[in-house]
Amino acid sequence: MDIKNKKTMIIDTHAHLDGEEFRDDLHEVIRRSKEAGVGKVFLPAIDLFSTDNILKVCKDYAGYCHPMTGLHPEEVKPGYGEVLTEMHRRLLDNLSGRTPEPRFIAVGEVGLDFYWSREFQEEQLKAFEEQVRWSIETRLPLMIHCRKAQNELLHILSQYKDELPGGVFHCFTGNQKEALAYLEFGNFVLGIGGVSTFKSSHLREDLPACVPLDRIVLETDSPYMAPVPHRGVRNESAFVVNVQQTLADCYGVSAEEVAVRTNANVLRVFGISV
Ligand SMILES: [Zn+2]
Repeated sequence: MDIKNKKTMIIDTHAHLDGEEFRDDLHEVIRRSKEAGVGKVFLPAIDLFSTDNILKVCKDYAGYCHPMTGLHPEEVKPGYGEVLTEMHRRLLDNLSGRTPEPRFIAVGEVGLDFYWSREFQEEQLKAFEEQVRWSIETRLPLMIHCRKAQNELLHILSQYKDELPGGVFHCFTGNQKEALAYLEFGNFVLGIGGVSTFKSSHLREDLPACVPLDRIVLETDSPYMAPVPHRGVRNESAFVVNVQQTLADCYGVSAEEVAVRTNANVLRVFGISV
């Protein structure tokens, strides 16, 4: 192979490919993703039901799709304690080999979301903290979702700062100050997705100004947040190359360099390489 034309595969670190949006054509979605140069896809769970579906998908695409488990903040409601107990039991069974492969690679997606409502604020805080402890217990990284809750999130995380194995602040869309607050946490990276390509986004200026490429991983958040030029349609993992190119342009490096550097970050945080 001509070394100059060598193209390094990239990783979509956050895609809900278990969703019913992909029920009819997941095989095509995976095929297009491979063709586009995506070497692996990581699937976050939102609850117990999605965890089961994700394990199925990751079994069908073993070695390509990798599962996480966790209770999404918007799924935290009364009764969440029992869900967490069951989820934790399954997580430990999975990691110990008592249940078949594939193995969970992260705790997620977990976090806080006060965008729509603070109705279950106390429950969300407790559920998040409990799952932060799972991450410390299992040494699996956290896949963190945070909307309109950065102060509360940092308050909880900072109590465990020295024990945390690392993770991703997924779908980062904040400003420089918010980015720097996250980067205080060693072995944590920012998950950058389709929003970075939106015309209205300030990420193309803010990220190169204060976030080294060594602290970024690529993601789609499929089926949401489709990047330009696919805005408004169902997002899929193949489109992560548009995020890769956007980062290459705003950091003034080649797409190849973005691939190599973000892959190194994925390896550091998740212990997984393409
Ligand atoms: Zn998500």
